[in-house]
Amino acid sequence: MNDREEQERGPSSAVSTSSGTSLNEFDFIRRLRQRASVEAQSTQPQSLILGIGDDAAVIRSANGRDTVVATDLLVEEIDFRRTTVPPYLLGHKALAVSLSDIAAMGARPRWSLISLGLPEEIWQSEFTNNFYNGLFQLAAQYDVQLIGGDTSRTPKQIVVDSIVIGECAADGALKRSGARPGDQIFVTGTLGGAAAGLRLIERGAHLADQNFGANETQVLDQLLLRHLRPEPRVGWGIVLGQENLATAMIDLSDGLSSDLNHICSESNAGALINSSEIPIDNQVIELCGRRALDPLQLALHGGEDFELLFTVHPDRVAKLPRKVDGVGITHIGEISYAGEGVRISEGSRIWELAPGGWKHF
Ligand code: ADP
Ligand code: MG
Repeated sequence: MNDREEQERGPSSAVSTSSGTSLNEFDFIRRLRQRASVEAQSTQPQSLILGIGDDAAVIRSANGRDTVVATDLLVEEIDFRRTTVPPYLLGHKALAVSLSDIAAMGARPRWSLISLGLPEEIWQSEFTNNFYNGLFQLAAQYDVQLIGGDTSRTPKQIVVDSIVIGECAADGALKRSGARPGDQIFVTGTLGGAAAGLRLIERGAHLADQNFGANETQVLDQLLLRHLRPEPRVGWGIVLGQENLATAMIDLSDGLSSDLNHICSESNAGALINSSEIPIDNQVIELCGRRALDPLQLALHGGEDFELLFTVHPDRVAKLPRKVDGVGITHIGEISYAGEGVRISEGSRIWELAPGGWKHF
């Protein structure tokens, strides 16, 4: 069991920092956000549209468009294992997770910077070749250009930092904070696949062979690939942003329960979603049936599906396309008032939906 799996079983665990205070990842980010905004008062913040606290930062460019920047860190043994993720797929994933953050802002990704920290034996191996093969293949799919990065040595573990820069119309970025009571909640694609894939990997499953295309008809490989090779919803992000169809958006990296809570707290709103509407991956239902796992728990708290969760004003719902790049969307609920909390209905019962996804600390 790795850290992530251990934490997925219970509510978020907090750790003691060296100062003796108990801080989880989100509290840490909240404090840093406050400090950065205080410090910024002595500089010129006019060009900063959105700083810490969303999927990406937004900066006003001189040409009147907005620049959107996101960064993601992947650390060996915490975010992935060398023995279960082929370097080719690690290259794909490093870029995919940042593309997903840019998509979550309703922006178009344009440029990538990748920094690598590698142990000597990895540097001497085929790792970098394969890593960049995977990265460049995904970059080409979305017309994203690699423009920089940094390289250093680490004593033991592989560390990858991925930055993606994108752009959108001035004031066109879709923030987490724009949801209003009455807005309808939608999600792209299906949920739970990545969490199921991670569980299979932790139990020793491997991709059938290195030919990643040929075996995808098999349920097992499909689930493993949902975890190992996430597909960022770049097309949906661009459409929702350009046509101004969504009021708020986030990508599902932490898990539906956590990420819906992020939208609600940033928007000062509540939400009610319907468990029977949640689009659970078919393969997850099949797998869970055989292994006495609860597919709804994986879909709600699993994380790393990298689908988009967004809210739409009721008047705009009819304008939503049915599919973009072959990926559909599903209506899962409605935004309500803050005092009503974030809730889920199961038949006639209604529960509070507490954030239960992955946290590093
Ligand atoms: P995501 O899962 O969408 O990548 P995160 O939870 O990693 O989002 O980050 C949420 C927000 O906190 C982002 O605005 C991010 O830039 C910011 N953030 C996270 N860690 C740090 C850090 N060490 N320093 C500054 N900002 C941070
Ligand atoms: Mg995100």
